[in-house]
Amino acid sequence: MSDQNPVFIPGPTNIPDRLRRAMQVQTQDHRSPAFAATLAPVLAGCKTVFGTKSGEIITFPASGTGGWEAAITNSLSPGDTVLVARNGMFSHRWIDMCQRHGLDVRVIECAWGSGAPADEFAVALKADTDHAIKAVLVTHNETATGVRSDIAAIRAAMNGADHPALLMVDCVSSLASMPFEMDRWGVDLAISGSQKGFMLTTGMAIVAASPKALSAMDTAQLPRTFFDFRDMLGATAQGGFPYTPPLQLIHGMAESLTMLFDEGLDNVYARHTRIAEGVREAVKGWGLSLVARSPDLYSDTVSAIHVPEGFDSNALIDHAFTTYGVSFGVGLGELNGRAFRIGHLGSLTDTMALSGLATIEMAMADLNYPVRLGSGVIAAQEHYRATAKLALTKAA
Ligand SMILES: *Cc1c(COP(=O)(O)O)cnc(C)c1O
Repeated sequence: MSDQNPVFIPGPTNIPDRLRRAMQVQTQDHRSPAFAATLAPVLAGCKTVFGTKSGEIITFPASGTGGWEAAITNSLSPGDTVLVARNGMFSHRWIDMCQRHGLDVRVIECAWGSGAPADEFAVALKADTDHAIKAVLVTHNETATGVRSDIAAIRAAMNGADHPALLMVDCVSSLASMPFEMDRWGVDLAISGSQKGFMLTTGMAIVAASPKALSAMDTAQLPRTFFDFRDMLGATAQGGFPYTPPLQLIHGMAESLTMLFDEGLDNVYARHTRIAEGVREAVKGWGLSLVARSPDLYSDTVSAIHVPEGFDSNALIDHAFTTYGVSFGVGLGELNGRAFRIGHLGSLTDTMALSGLATIEMAMADLNYPVRLGSGVIAAQEHYRATAKLALTKAA
């Protein structure tokens, strides 16, 4: 099977040749000054992408899930209360992790397809007059449902209640693809990884911590060793690592940041929006519906799409892979079998997006979906034609 077809899963994402080459480096002594020179610009560049000047970047050899664990264990103690919305599989997994760490998790249950409800957070926080809640957890971009939550609104709810809890945000599938403003939104811990917007292999959990989050680690009692912020910050301040770093990935990250800054972050975000809009036009053309309930919630990195009654989305994803060699995302959790996902983030152009739309359209036609061949592709083509000039001028 060809390895030239792009993947349309919402991470890990397609790795540009330029980044694969950047990771082809020989072993380098991580106790040498050369390593310090490699690491410093990566940490500085990540700050820019997170939108923080006052925060610190802490990275671990792990996937994004490790970043979650690091954020929790460095800021909380057993029995602490956290407030979190469950609106998809990733927020659900975060809740599960908190419970397994012995935290007291207050869950705001939401319909999948809705965003984290700022109004319900406001009510819960106002009622918490003795400030039992130590942290508010939000998934910025729920990858299971294709829903973006409004982090500024959550922050406003916290401020409105004059509540001192930490604000922790999972931005694994939004960072470097959709705007993220850590300082402006008052985020205390933001968690991401290398394999989505950064277009790299999995293996770097990237956490940004505000000064308030950093002081929380002095009292946080959850056990941690590998993920201890103090060990990592102490070592990186000296240009080193407390253990063996993922050297090749760090080189890849340096190049990824160069690519993002060369394109310009605003252009990166605009490209994601334009590609996502084309995908959404295609969904309309097919006569199908998004899981995301309203346009203000639409994610620009992943679309979750309901299949018609009586169809099995797993069979569709399977068929697209075995027949055409192209991967799309399955429906997760309660959407399993009922929805499929098109990932449209990272290294992606309108041309690549069209190939994915044409492919899933063929797969749907093969399986007798009530979808007319060409109906989605033409809708996306019209959108990309209408917006191409603007995109090219911006990129120039
Ligand atoms: C991908 C993803 C994660 C982390 O997954 P890992 O496989 O551990 O990297 C967490 N949250 C969201 C929203 C994601 O999309």
